[in-house]
Amino acid sequence: MPIRVTVWGENVHEHKNATVARIYPTGMHTCIADALNQDARLVARTATLDQPEHGLTKEVLDQTDVLTWWGHCAHGKVDDAIVDRVQERVLQGMGLIVLHSGHFAKIFKRLLGTSCALTWREVGERERLWVCNPGHPIVQGLPRSITIPNEEMYGEPFGIPNPDEVVLVSWFEGGEVFRSGCTFTRGAGKIFYFRPGHETYPTYHIPEIQQIIRNAVAWAAPAGAAWRDVLNAPNAKNPPETIRTPDPNAHGESAGGGGFR
Ligand code: ZN
Repeated sequence: MPIRVTVWGENVHEHKNATVARIYPTGMHTCIADALNQDARLVARTATLDQPEHGLTKEVLDQTDVLTWWGHCAHGKVDDAIVDRVQERVLQGMGLIVLHSGHFAKIFKRLLGTSCALTWREVGERERLWVCNPGHPIVQGLPRSITIPNEEMYGEPFGIPNPDEVVLVSWFEGGEVFRSGCTFTRGAGKIFYFRPGHETYPTYHIPEIQQIIRNAVAWAAPAGAAWRDVLNAPNAKNPPETIRTPDPNAHGESAGGGGFR
């Protein structure tokens, strides 16, 4: 069965900026979904901010193995109830690929719990992405480094928790470096942050960038069944084995009880 991907796009710049509209006439989300659909392992559909529930209804998310996320100018317009819903699905095991300015998306900051801030500069300088671990599934089929002629710069410090693995690092013409491809795990869900993709450059048309996103989606797909009750904290009152010496003061209710309160 193919991996079911939902490509989420904010889809705002495409309608406000002529350069973005020219590079991505059908939207960045459509370009990314088309690239994913070139891979027989994947079947991708799109969802956008302006749709009811941002296109991320419970039904859509329940049928999504991996969600990709591109947002920038409208992070604040994403409904917190939808962020809650996406977070729960990630904890259950849905993969999440966060792209470029999605570093400041509510869902990314929620899952990582840190500022996710970084330094940036927009002059269209050269970026060289270096593969840190050629054996990692996300960089299969790629050369040891990839050059993007024009990109926005993102620099350290990047306010993220230490990643499980840094798969790619970037060097920029102006001198900065950045952890551009980072993996995380939250609950049963795998998360990949991938830096390139400023809206005024044709980055998502670059074959190697598309290959990384395809690989990342395949890597982030759930390996097992969804952990559906991940938010539940049941009281296991009836243990599978007999507890022969229960502490009578376990709840601190008896006089002179020794329990920790
Ligand atoms: Zn940008």
